[in-house]
Amino acid sequence: MTAGEENDSTQGSHIFTKKYADETGLKVYGQGKPVRLFVAGLHGNEWKDTTEIMMNIKPPERGTLALIPFVQRGEYTSTLDPAYYPVMGKSILEAIEALNPEIYIELHSYSRENLEKLAGKDRLERIGVPAYSILKSGVLLGSVSPWIRKRYFPKEALCLSFEIQKRNPESREFAASTLEILKENGSRDEFIEYLQKEFPEQARKAIEDYRRFYGEI
Ligand SMILES: [Zn+2]
Repeated sequence: MTAGEENDSTQGSHIFTKKYADETGLKVYGQGKPVRLFVAGLHGNEWKDTTEIMMNIKPPERGTLALIPFVQRGEYTSTLDPAYYPVMGKSILEAIEALNPEIYIELHSYSRENLEKLAGKDRLERIGVPAYSILKSGVLLGSVSPWIRKRYFPKEALCLSFEIQKRNPESREFAASTLEILKENGSRDEFIEYLQKEFPEQARKAIEDYRRFYGEI
């Protein structure tokens, strides 16, 4: 335990240290392409709802799956903040540089009262990033922070951010099943095809957001 951790008032932090020690760092399954990187527990107390989901993911049938079930806890810095990745999210940047993933997934969690902030249509006007789409069981689908998208990934990479609703078992379950699909996924286009079939409206928005980001509309 470091001095910093002693000051951590996050409830359950001791349980965390005991139960998850050494199991939550970067884990790499399989080999070859495609390379996928999934991360969870990015800030604040989000690990409570997301880390275990990541820890339960089994190796993929083909290609590589890298997992960081727990990035940081305690302090909350938004991933939209330019200081997030170089400081709190340093392990993410190191993994991206080492592995060059073509599929990158962040798993976040949100409190019910913040749903409007995340999925409200005015999010683009308000903070300059597109609103999340509601998928199912309180699971939201959106883009990752432009800061990391532009600097670290080629245009054809698939970069997604999922938000699950805190303390909602159905939300967890649905997110876990979506990650199971993504972990066997081969490319951006393959996932878009799946999304168009299952969630046509959300797929349309995802494509529109992507094009807007690259200045194509
Ligand atoms: Zn988050």
